[in-house]
Amino acid sequence: MDHFNAASFRLAFPAIRSTTVFLDSAATALKPVAMISASNNYYSLSGSSVYRGQSSESLKLTRDFEQGRIRAAKFINAPCEKNIIWTRGTTESINLIAQSYFRSVLQPGDEIIVSEIEHHSNLLPWIMLAQQTGAKVIKWPVENDLTLNIDVLKSKLSPKCKVVAITQMSNVTGYQPDLLAITQLVHQVGARIVVDGAQGVVHNPLDVTELNIDFYVFSAHKLYGPTGLGVCYGKMELLEQMPPWHGGGKMLTEVTFEHFTPAPIPQRFEAGTPNIAGVIAFSSVLEWLETIDLSSAEAYTRSLVEHANSKLSSLPGFIAYSAPHSPLLSFNFQGIHHSDLGVLLTEQNIALRYGQHCAQPLMDALKVSGCLRISMMPYNSLQDIDTFIDAVTFSLSLLND
Ligand code: PMP
Repeated sequence: MDHFNAASFRLAFPAIRSTTVFLDSAATALKPVAMISASNNYYSLSGSSVYRGQSSESLKLTRDFEQGRIRAAKFINAPCEKNIIWTRGTTESINLIAQSYFRSVLQPGDEIIVSEIEHHSNLLPWIMLAQQTGAKVIKWPVENDLTLNIDVLKSKLSPKCKVVAITQMSNVTGYQPDLLAITQLVHQVGARIVVDGAQGVVHNPLDVTELNIDFYVFSAHKLYGPTGLGVCYGKMELLEQMPPWHGGGKMLTEVTFEHFTPAPIPQRFEAGTPNIAGVIAFSSVLEWLETIDLSSAEAYTRSLVEHANSKLSSLPGFIAYSAPHSPLLSFNFQGIHHSDLGVLLTEQNIALRYGQHCAQPLMDALKVSGCLRISMMPYNSLQDIDTFIDAVTFSLSLLND
C-alpha cells in the first residue's frame, strides 16, 4: 500500500482539472483514471456480454464480472461473493429488500422503524411497503443535537417491529449511528436491520460480518465508481427466503408457460443484461483502492473539513448542522435564504448542493426549508476550501448589502 500523498491522489482524477471547485462529492464522487480506463477498454476493445456467449472473450468478461463481485464482498467483509447482488444503486437495493424479503413477512399492524435522518431512498420504499401490507412506519426522531438516542429506539422496539432501517451516515449531518449497539437491540426483538451505506461506505468502510448486519446497501458512484450500479448485501439465510423480484433473462434455470425454476443466488435477483461495463469499472476501483492508505486519506479529508468549518464559523451568522468530525458540512447563514447564497456560489464555479438534500423530514425537524452542503474527498485541496471561503465572503457581502 502506498503512503497517501494528496497531490498525487488528486492527479488520478481528470475532471478535477476543470475550472469548477468540486465540493459535491456526497452527491457523486469524481472518477479516477483506473475506473475510466476500465470502462473505456470494455467499450472500445471488447463489448461482448456476460453469461450469454461462448466466445473466449465473453467467458473472460464473465470471469472479470465475477471478480468484481468477489472484490465487493471483500470490501465489506461479506462471508462470500454470493451474498452480493448487483443492482442499479442504493435506491434499487432498498426497494429490492423491501419488496422481495419484507413484503411477504409483514402483517397488518407490524412495525417498520425508520430514523428521522434518513434519505428519501430509505424512507419511501418503507412507506410504500406499509401501504401494501397494512404495516406501520414508526419514526425514530432525531434529537436536538442532531444525534439519535438509542434509549428512544429501545422504547419503540417490540415484537411487532420487523425491521429497522437506518443510515450508516447521514447525507446532511454526517452523523454516524452506533450500528453495533443498534443491531444488537434490533435482534433482541427478532427484527432485522437494513443499513443504508450510501455515504458511510465512502468514509468508513464497515465489516458486515463483525457487525452482524442483515442487509447492507450502497451505490458504486459515490465510491469513485460508475453511476447505475449498486450493491445489495444480504445474509445468505435471508436471501434464500427471497423470491426473485424482476423476471427476465438469466434469472432462471428452466421455464414453461406454467412454471419456472429460479437460478441460484445471486443470479436469480439479476434479471436481464447487467451493467457489465459498470461492474468491471467498479472492480478496477476496488482493486485501486487496495493500493491507497484509506485511513490517512480520510484523515486528510477530515482536516479539510475542519479547515472549512473554522473559516465558516468566523463569518457572522453561520449556522452549522453537522456532526463533529463529519466529512460533510451543512450550513446556513442567519437571515439568508440557502438558494440565494447557493446561486451566487454556483455562479462563482463552486459545485455544492443546496436545497433539501432528499431529506425532507430532517429539514422539517431542523425547522429549515433547506440548507447548503459542501462535501469532500481526498482529491480536494486546501486551495479548494480557500477559494470556496472567498466566494462565500464575497456572496455574503452582496446579500448583506
Ligand atoms: N442514501 C443516502 C444517505 C444518500 O446520500 C443517497 C444519495 N444521495 C442515497 C441513499 C441514494 O443513492 P442512489 O441515488 O445512488 O440510489
